[in-house]
Order: sequence, then C-alpha cells, then structure tokens
Amino acid sequence: MNGAELLQTGGTVPEDRLPVQEIFGPVPQGEGPYTGRCACFIRLGRCNLHCPPCDSKRTWDTTRYDLAQTCPPRTADDIVEAVGEHGAGAGIVVVSGGEPLLWQRTAAWHRMLTALPGDVHIETNGTISPNQFTAGRVAHFSVSPKIGRMGAADPVKRRIRPAVLADFAVLAGQGKAGFKFVAADAAEVEEAARLVGDHRIPHDRVWIMPLGDDRAAWTTAGRNIVEQVMSHGFNFSARLHLTLGVR
Ligand code: SF4
Repeated sequence: MNGAELLQTGGTVPEDRLPVQEIFGPVPQGEGPYTGRCACFIRLGRCNLHCPPCDSKRTWDTTRYDLAQTCPPRTADDIVEAVGEHGAGAGIVVVSGGEPLLWQRTAAWHRMLTALPGDVHIETNGTISPNQFTAGRVAHFSVSPKIGRMGAADPVKRRIRPAVLADFAVLAGQGKAGFKFVAADAAEVEEAARLVGDHRIPHDRVWIMPLGDDRAAWTTAGRNIVEQVMSHGFNFSARLHLTLGVR
C-alpha cells in the first residue's frame, strides 16, 4: 500500500509507531490450530479489504470511525510493555488486525517483532506475502483469504492473490501456516475447496470456520456445513470466544 492509499484509509502513521486498536490478554486463542492456547492479542489498525461481516471495523472503517481515535499510534516499546502487562504467562502473542502485514516494512514493526516475548503468530487476509524478516521471526501465520459473504465487497483480484497464496502454501507445507476460511453455507465451503485445489494448499492445513457473530448464528452455520467440511478432509474451526461468551 502506498502513502496515498494509507491516507485514504485513515491518515499517515509515523515510521516509529504502529496504529493499535487494542492489546488484550491473556485469553484462550479462539480459532484455528492453536485453539485453547493461552495468548495475548495485539490488534493493529488499517486494512486493505472491506469485508461486510468484519468484526473489527474499528481498525479500518473511516465511514464510521475516526481511526486516529480508535487506533492511536504507539511505539514498539510501548506495545511490548503492554504485552508484558496484559499477556503475563501467555505462550503466544497474536498480531492481528486489520491487516497487520501492511506494516511489515516499518522500523516499528521490526523493533516490535524483535522484542516481543514467546512465539509470535500473525493473522492475515493472505493478500501480502511476508518479507524475509517477518517469515523468519513468526512461528505461525493464520491465513484467511476472503470468500463468499466475507469477500462480497472487494473484487476477486484484490482479495485473492495467487502469488501470495503460493508463498503461504509453502509455509503451510512446512507447518508454519494454516489457512482459515469463513463459510456460511455449503456453496462457500465448495468455493474454499476450489481455492485450495487451485493453489495446492495442503488439505490438512485448512480450517473452515462457520460464519456467525453470536453463538446461535455460529452454531446454525456450523451444523449446516460440518459434513461437507469433513468430506473434503478439512479441519473444523471452533470460535471459542463465542461458545464461551468471553472475549
Ligand atoms: S480482512 Fe479481516 S480485518 Fe480486513 S475487513 Fe476483512 S475481516 Fe476485517
């Protein structure tokens, strides 16, 4: 993303800072292969996609939020200190967003990743390849390409980038990445399956998570898709924070 695009999505951020919407923990990781692991979360601001069901619109939606207020810039040292306060005992630090890899070229990102304790995980929408430093430092990438209802607001060429998916497929084969697709119904599971086949993503590194922002909706979607998820040999992802009614 260039400077002009960043400006359109909420203003510039000093090179020595990152926009932070929230830092919280310790909490159980709610989704994907590390479900239940004790984690601390850093949620960074800005995104290059505009998914209608997004539950993190405070990180990017300038039509509803003033991002200078919802995601104030903080130094890497400040972020690491906050992780120490909120994530005491957490074995993993999850950097989420928004799209956190938008920031991987900044000095603040380099400093933050260097100083964070424990295993660092990144949650990404799969449109930006990790650079050499990021790939070397990060223990796990949770890659979530947007399909179906999640992808309804963005053109395919913006949300599905074959070269980037190929990079993450290689990391998945090395056990350093897992793909997580959010699906509302059987048609969306099939869309995910086509993408997995087209991009040679290892099936055992794919998690399908039902779409739903409350327990009832999530459970209904889950019952609708679980058989089809299994028929493809994919994994079924929990959404533990909904099930437990915790953050
Ligand atoms: S990619 Fe993630 S953070 Fe960005 S709009 Fe979509 S769901 Fe929200």
